[in-house]
Amino acid sequence: MGEFELIRRYFAAAPCAQAAAGVALGIGDDCALLQLPPGQQLAVSTDSLVAGVHFPQPCDPFLLGQRALAVSVSDLAAMGAEPIAFTLALTLPEVREDWLDGFARGLARMARDCAIALVGGDTTRGPLSLTLSVFGRLPAGQALTRGGARPGDLLCVGGSLGDGAGALPLVLGEQSSAGEHADYLLQRYWAPQPQLALGQWLRGRATAALDVSDGLLADCGHIAAASAVALQIERDAVPLSPALRAIAGVRATDCALAGGDDYRLAFTLPPEHLAALRAQWPEAVVIGRALAGQGVRLLDGQGCLIEPPRAGYQHFGSNGD
Ligand code: ADP
Ligand code: MG
Repeated sequence: MGEFELIRRYFAAAPCAQAAAGVALGIGDDCALLQLPPGQQLAVSTDSLVAGVHFPQPCDPFLLGQRALAVSVSDLAAMGAEPIAFTLALTLPEVREDWLDGFARGLARMARDCAIALVGGDTTRGPLSLTLSVFGRLPAGQALTRGGARPGDLLCVGGSLGDGAGALPLVLGEQSSAGEHADYLLQRYWAPQPQLALGQWLRGRATAALDVSDGLLADCGHIAAASAVALQIERDAVPLSPALRAIAGVRATDCALAGGDDYRLAFTLPPEHLAALRAQWPEAVVIGRALAGQGVRLLDGQGCLIEPPRAGYQHFGSNGD
């Protein structure tokens, strides 16, 4: 099968490449054309995933397609953007139709969940790697950046943390993956759901936001630095899923603090929005607050400063960049 037949069969003909809102021209020409409503800005992000660095190889191509798109779209969620379109640069060692079929189906599944359309890409031969660029839109000036946190804001996360890091020994076959808790963690690793609706709701409310990909402490460090504030985290407030507690045992908290691959939003919120957050997003949790100062501090159950754990549960996450 030649390059053009491959593109046509697996990508141009895929359900996610069909006509979509905001896409004036999709796959097939030298460029795709995106249409933005007046007063909106384009949010753009690119992520590369390299076999053996960002995901284990071999792995199930359907799961890889889902995950590759999910981690990219998560950046749109973090800015408060609404997805429009994505491109896919795919480098393949060989043309295997069963692999391409599974990969394209996984991609299409996640694209449907995120309401995002495939509008172009590139296909080359070489060691397996994927580069996805995502495009989203938001009202001009309303993007959630990392730089707006202020002393007095609450520090919140969009749900349980550590599931991705807790899943790694299962993903790598180092730990038995039987049972419902293992299924849950593997699902969180292979098909994280970008928190798009939460991100859009936070526009005009949160003062800073990002998606947790490198580990809570490291990513909170990015908000602290960009906002020139200190972030104080109460260790015992960090939400852990029952599955993570069951599978990771005593390592669960360290997975949540220092592991990566969560793709939950972390954000700072002025306290006046807390009641609305609780009503609308019951799974969101306050884990600390912003103070004058710099850096990230971790407190134990008694409110004493403690030494943060070092990242150590990450073989294939974003730390491999
Ligand atoms: P060009 O040589 O002009 O860059 P290509 O021959 O590489 O164009 O690609 C032809 C069309 O197919 C373009 O619209 C391109 O965006 C699209 N395309 C190529 N590879 C992929 C892919 N992996 N997924 C989606 N679209 C692709
Ligand atoms: Mg090309």
